[in-house]
Amino acid sequence: MEEYPLTIMDLEKQFSTEEACRDYLIELRWPNGFVCPRCQTPGSWSASRERWICQTCRYQASVTAGTIFQDTHKPLTLWFRAVWHVTSRKHGASAMSLQQELGLGSYKTAWTWLHKLRRAMVRPGRDRLSGTVEVDETYWGAEEEGVIGRQTERKALIAVAVEDNGNKIGRIRLRQIPDASRESLHGFINEMIEPGSTVRTDGLPSYLAMNGFTHERQVQRQQDEGEHLLPRVHQVVSLLKRWLLGTHQGAVGHAHLDYYLDEFTFRFNRRNSRSRGKLFYRLLQQVVQVDPVPFRCIIGGKNDSI
Ligand SMILES: [Zn+2]
Repeated sequence: MEEYPLTIMDLEKQFSTEEACRDYLIELRWPNGFVCPRCQTPGSWSASRERWICQTCRYQASVTAGTIFQDTHKPLTLWFRAVWHVTSRKHGASAMSLQQELGLGSYKTAWTWLHKLRRAMVRPGRDRLSGTVEVDETYWGAEEEGVIGRQTERKALIAVAVEDNGNKIGRIRLRQIPDASRESLHGFINEMIEPGSTVRTDGLPSYLAMNGFTHERQVQRQQDEGEHLLPRVHQVVSLLKRWLLGTHQGAVGHAHLDYYLDEFTFRFNRRNSRSRGKLFYRLLQQVVQVDPVPFRCIIGGKNDSI
């Protein structure tokens, strides 16, 4: 299908009703016809426009069941506008801007919606990085310029993987890790990078003895001022920090940092998309493929104020 709105006018026209939104999601979730979410077999009776009954296991399904739209009390038309708001802006949206744009009653609702959408932005293990990949760690928090009121919080450690596509930067993966131990770093590499790839790191001993990868170790040598052993990682890290400080004014606590890393990754890996509408399409496509996330699971962390 790959049909998506190109402008806000298109969006308003195409998705003016709940039916239109639902039909779009049905196309995205079951492009080849209904497949039972429980027993994975095709074939259903339609109970209504919105409900299917599996012919095999009698499970009753709707297109939003099992997705982040499950149990929402707000119309899909509003959700679609939220997705547009998030994907149509080059640097993304803050909860404040989303609340204002959609006229949502509370900041908390806008904040929760953004986190639900971020959950759908990266699906780990679906497509791992490959070829030659630079891996390094970076710190976030506490002493970052512009971060106010978090001086007491310890720094967060972020593992960074960046594909080396010759002169260009390929895809990236980011995740918070507890420490720079062998276990943490190897765990990150195994999860994010295709076995058989070449992993390029600095001389940190934790990276030694990799299993299933070719290890290319860059050991510190005489170098010019400003030259980096892992230039791609360095560039991605500075863009990431600028984004966290800019769009989100640095107000990102450790408990939710991974969600922001997912959003940055989603945007970065699609930075060359010709159309913003394509991001809208991709995000909705991923939204209907994830599990529902109850609010209590999102707030979870203790360091964050909502
Ligand atoms: Zn079934």
